[in-house]
Amino acid sequence: MDFGLTDEQKDIKYAARDFAEKEFSDIAESCDEKEIFPREVWKKACQLGFVGSFVEPAYGGSGLGLLDYTLIAEEFWRVDPGIGQALFSTAFGAEIIEKHGTEEQKTSYLPAVVRGEKIMGLATTEPDAGSDITSIKTTAVRQGDTYVINGSKTMIGNGSIGDFLLVLCLTNPERPKIHDRFSFFIVETGRVGYDGTHMHGKMGLRAYDSADVSFDGVEIPATNLLGDVEGKGFYQAMDFFNMSRTWVGGFALGAAQGAMEKAIRHIRERKQFGHPLSHFQALRFKVAEMATYVEMIRNMVYKAAWNMDRGLKDHKLVAMAKWIAGSLAVKVVDEALQLHGGYGYFSDYGIEKYYRAVKAVEIYEGTKEIEKHIISNEILGRE
Ligand SMILES: Cc1cc2nc3c(=O)[nH]c(=O)nc-3n(C[C@H](O)[C@H](O)[C@H](O)COP(=O)(O)OP(=O)(O)OC[C@H]3O[C@@H](n4cnc5c(N)ncnc54)[C@H](O)[C@@H]3O)c2cc1C
Repeated sequence: MDFGLTDEQKDIKYAARDFAEKEFSDIAESCDEKEIFPREVWKKACQLGFVGSFVEPAYGGSGLGLLDYTLIAEEFWRVDPGIGQALFSTAFGAEIIEKHGTEEQKTSYLPAVVRGEKIMGLATTEPDAGSDITSIKTTAVRQGDTYVINGSKTMIGNGSIGDFLLVLCLTNPERPKIHDRFSFFIVETGRVGYDGTHMHGKMGLRAYDSADVSFDGVEIPATNLLGDVEGKGFYQAMDFFNMSRTWVGGFALGAAQGAMEKAIRHIRERKQFGHPLSHFQALRFKVAEMATYVEMIRNMVYKAAWNMDRGLKDHKLVAMAKWIAGSLAVKVVDEALQLHGGYGYFSDYGIEKYYRAVKAVEIYEGTKEIEKHIISNEILGRE
């Protein structure tokens, strides 16, 4: 067993840290406050190979492993979750194109995403279909050389600023097995009948666009069906979640680490009752607990990524890592804010942004309850 990062992985981690520390601080607050996507920093991040860098060199990426990509996620969120989320979201779903797309789809779409020329997103959630993606109603109907898409999606990352989305649609409702009824389509947002409306007032992660999206008879070429066979969408989504849940675990790790570091600095500087706060045993114990939780998150998330990089697909371990990462990070960030006292409640101290952001990890990419479904089903079998 090897618990260490390679020299190359340390280089990736520290390069991501340097980049985030240098580029995020000046824009983070205004992007959060005004809900603005950080376009220039996104371009720079792409030029330096941080975005979608798991994509193979043949399609413009650097072929990084899942652990490498998770390290970047961690470092970006450590500095600013909102900017980190916005940058990562621009390649959200690129794994699906790379693993399951046709050669033409890979060469047409992936290099532009990795180079920072195009923004993509992934659309599964609908107003009546969240945790249960098999209840989606958006349809794609084949008509000659085209498909016509009708329906709506919600909370879709980059739905109002992106160039194209990977959209999960119902294509084969007649099939007896429910999981065989869905397919992904690449839908350019400039097509007639597409509408993406920014959803204002997210609790956190506001530099990242979330949108209500509707498809009103959107016509796309039949070649935009992901891969060349209908009915694979559900399986492609599940395969993707094994990867995305792992680097989302990296988001939680980064938030916990970043918030804890801020809290430690604060209690060393702030004096009450004639001593720095770090003098008081009750608060020292809080730091001990936070640091232990961060270590637990790191071990689970890195292990899940390390296994995936070795082709050991462990659905259960990924679900465990994502659940524990979100839940413990929420606890750590809560204590980090508490250690700031009243100042923690004000944005000037830069701690409440972690608090607002980290909750998302317990909700998207599978809620914590859904992760526990997966874990218990793997252990006890399905009921
Ligand atoms: C910041 C953010 C970004 C997002 N980005 C995207 C995106 O880019 N693309 C996209 O497609 N979606 C996106 N989503 C949507 C997200 O994936 C869904 O919110 C999530 O899957 C949960 O679905 P829901 O909100 O409909 O909740 P519901 O499914 O209605 O669940 C409500 C509650 O009930 C629980 N629950 C549901 N079913 C069960 C059950 N059987 N047993 C026990 N508990 C259950 C859930 O865990 C949850 O606590 C985003 C969400 C957020 C918050």
